Amino acid sequence: MIRTEKIKEVKECVKAWKKEGKTIGLVPTMGYLHEGHASLIKKAREENDIVIVSDFVNPIQFGPKEDLATYPRDFEADCALCESIGADLIFHPEPEEMYAPDFCTHVGVATLSEHLCGARRPVHFNGVCTVVTKLFMISQADRAYFGQKDAQQLAIVRRMVRDLNYNIEIIGCPIVREEDGLAKSSRNTYLNPMERKAAVVLHQALTEAEAKIRAGETDAAEVRRIISNIIEDEPLARIDYVEVVDWNELQPIEKIDGPVLVAIAVFIGKVRLIDNFIVE
Ligand code: AMP
Repeated sequence: MIRTEKIKEVKECVKAWKKEGKTIGLVPTMGYLHEGHASLIKKAREENDIVIVSDFVNPIQFGPKEDLATYPRDFEADCALCESIGADLIFHPEPEEMYAPDFCTHVGVATLSEHLCGARRPVHFNGVCTVVTKLFMISQADRAYFGQKDAQQLAIVRRMVRDLNYNIEIIGCPIVREEDGLAKSSRNTYLNPMERKAAVVLHQALTEAEAKIRAGETDAAEVRRIISNIIEDEPLARIDYVEVVDWNELQPIEKIDGPVLVAIAVFIGKVRLIDNFIVE
């Protein structure tokens, strides 16, 4: 497996692979890889001749009060995991390699960024779209793999690709969970043992709500109430948002009568966790 911090080196490899007619799958990550990331890399491995994993904590998608400085990192462990799955290249640039001092070009997706995490993290999705665009250009990938764990991100990237005619196919992958249902996340490592136990409340609340919708509940306010009540019963949890939106435009709805995304963000102590489900 090739490890590189340099854009130029990735481009040289890509040029050679393309010349041989090979297909390329890209898995963009911020590192500290776990089984959620591994599921994306495995799928990319199955569907492409070449697999590129990017491992980059992208500074421009973090707000000033967010956890950029403390975001967990373990590049050696990431390399071992990628190598064990059979990735061909891991791209691990420094911020300076990605952003020149006078960098001033950004990509953004309007409507879909208005609610959910977009409303609470004003710079986040412009930062995501910008770095993802750069990674698409650098890797010239045929396919890119994103987790439903970040459902708003998946929808936004898909829309960006459609609206701007990027030559890449976006593959969405299901959420990988711990045995007790907690969605795997690099940020779970911030939780102390008591918080880790409490964090299961996100999945419990969503499971209850999903069952209600599948049994015929169409009132979005009732769905939000069910979720909020369960989370509020957990003393270590504090709701950031509980939202029910349509799965196309990500706009809040009152009545569930089509594909729906139910998404939540909850602080467990100081750790902000997200989770969701989609009913098509
Ligand atoms: P991150 O490193 O958190 O930026 O995540 C990189 C990619 O992995 C994103 O497309 C995430 O949605 C995906 N991902 C993170 N956690 C999970 C999970 N538990 N299950 C599936 N995909 C995940």
